[in-house]
Amino acid sequence: MADKFKKISPYLLNFIGCSLVVGMIFYAIGVLILLDKPIETPSADYSVPEITLLGDSHITIYTGDSYDDPGAISDTTVFASGQVDTTRPGDYLVSYVTADSAGNIATASRVVTVLSRNTGVIYLTFDDGPSAYTAELLDVLAKYNVKATFFVTNAGSDEMIAREYNEGHAIGLHSCTHDYSYIYVSVDNFFSDLYCVQNRVKNITGYTSYLMRFPGGSSNLVSSRYDGGTRIMSTLVREVEARGFTYFDWNITSGDAGGTTSSDGVYRNVINQVYRDGKSVVLQHDIKSFSVAAVERIIQWGLANGFTFDKLSADSFTAHHGVNN
Ligand SMILES: [Zn+2]
Repeated sequence: MADKFKKISPYLLNFIGCSLVVGMIFYAIGVLILLDKPIETPSADYSVPEITLLGDSHITIYTGDSYDDPGAISDTTVFASGQVDTTRPGDYLVSYVTADSAGNIATASRVVTVLSRNTGVIYLTFDDGPSAYTAELLDVLAKYNVKATFFVTNAGSDEMIAREYNEGHAIGLHSCTHDYSYIYVSVDNFFSDLYCVQNRVKNITGYTSYLMRFPGGSSNLVSSRYDGGTRIMSTLVREVEARGFTYFDWNITSGDAGGTTSSDGVYRNVINQVYRDGKSVVLQHDIKSFSVAAVERIIQWGLANGFTFDKLSADSFTAHHGVNN
């Protein structure tokens, strides 16, 4: 093979080399000539059409809500695409596109978040009032149009009980004396104390309440210290019902009567414990300022997370504890 290369004349190689150089020069001249001439195009419209999203770019709804897309507008027709499945939680993208007659395209989009709805009902209940903090509490409840339940005593002003009643809250009976060593001595003592607070409410409002909550709850053991071994709670739960009362306990405690001494603690206790899809009767005391101060955040959190708030009534959930004495 090497021999064959040797037969190619050096003059021929020289000629090929020169031809390549000359060819490249002509090619370069041709390119320069072409570049010198403007590229012929039709006078073009490169302006992108305007597209404006109606409504927020991120919309949050709950499962079961209906979804009406607010759409988007432009000078030319806007086409929307994307489905929002309101039965399934998730993020959904809705896209909008429009094109002008020159073929310029504009797009927009929004995210629709479907959250699973909490179907829980929260019953806020307040024992031992009214007190100096009850007015502030009523203001907060009114601000959010939330109705609550007050298990009242002989304390506080008549005016506050009148406000509670006139503003649509449920008035339950707690105790006139709230003195365990009196009310749990005998059935007679218990009812004389209960009728005392029933009369107070009736005198102020004209309403005879048959909603009540035992001091200490129906499950209390403190009564066993005073009842002489009669297991008085077992008798009382039957007897209050025989006399037409409905008694309520609670299934969520804010902790405001025990270890919790801050609004933040009350708030966290409540929101961490309420039943997402069930009924929560929350125990608070409107004689505790820090507990009252937590109510606005509890309501804001509940409303933002799909809960409803309601007041107790004779036919609502009672959250009975079960009797231990
Ligand atoms: Zn109490």
